[in-house]
Amino acid sequence: MGQEWDVETLCNDCKSIIPDSINTSSHLTAIDLVRSYYHINNMTAPTFRIEYMYAATKSPNYMRKFLAETAAFRALCGEAAAKGVYLSDSMKDLLQKGGDFPADLAQSLIKLAKEDFPDPRKGSKCDWHEHADGLRCAKDDVEPYMTS
Ligand SMILES: [Zn+2]
Repeated sequence: MGQEWDVETLCNDCKSIIPDSINTSSHLTAIDLVRSYYHINNMTAPTFRIEYMYAATKSPNYMRKFLAETAAFRALCGEAAAKGVYLSDSMKDLLQKGGDFPADLAQSLIKLAKEDFPDPRKGSKCDWHEHADGLRCAKDDVEPYMTS
């Protein structure tokens, strides 16, 4: 999946924008890098990237969840494209295609509204990790760059 999603380029971009002290002080997973990249560049997931991730994966995962939450965050906390325009045509098209995304987006919108609009790009890395053994990463501390 990494190559298909051009994670190598993403990782290289991250290396150039994330200070070495952060990049070498802890092991960053793909989701950590994507969250950092989106945070530092103030990005939310474009429709094509969401569509790609849902097509490339068949079951719920944190990358899907993250992309859906950034789209929900943009919808609720970003500027409207124009007066009265709250959903782009590309997002309407994607929602009309069905699949898992419409329910995930609804879930994300409700979560954000009920939890005081947490930015999915900020906060604990471990909230976005699979921990099969139930143990969180040794260094779960929120990195300084994730809080501002
Ligand atoms: Zn973790």
